[in-house]
Parts: sequence; C-alpha cells; structure tokens
Amino acid sequence: MSQTTAAAPTVEVPSIPLAELAPWALFFGLLAVLAIVFVSADQGAFSIPSGNAIHEWVHDGRHLLGYPCH
Ligand SMILES: [Zn+2]
Repeated sequence: MSQTTAAAPTVEVPSIPLAELAPWALFFGLLAVLAIVFVSADQGAFSIPSGNAIHEWVHDGRHLLGYPCH
C-alpha cells in the first residue's frame, strides 16, 4: 500500500531592494509632512492658498490630533 501526500504549497516573500524602496519612502514621507503642515500650521493667516479653505477642510483632524485651534 502506497500513500501519496500532496506537496505543501510554498510561499515566497519577494524581497525589495532598498535602492528601489528609498525613492518611494521619500515621496510618501514628503506627502505625510505636507499633510501634517496643512493640519497643524494652516490657520488662514498664513496659508499656501489664501483663505480659510484648507483650515476648514482639515479642521476635524486638527482637533483629533490635539492641535490648538479655537
Ligand atoms: Zn477648531
């Protein structure tokens, strides 16, 4: 009597070289810094686009993160 066993599937985790990952990490890091600047520092008095639009759009996030507002 012979018994056959199914081969277990092998899973390979792809490795990503750091040289390919670094530009994307820098890009998304800069986007994150830009988002934090808009949430934390945009008060309407100094705004990249003038006016209160950005401040109003990120207002709830500002309170959620504990930045002083009003
Ligand atoms: Zn507020």
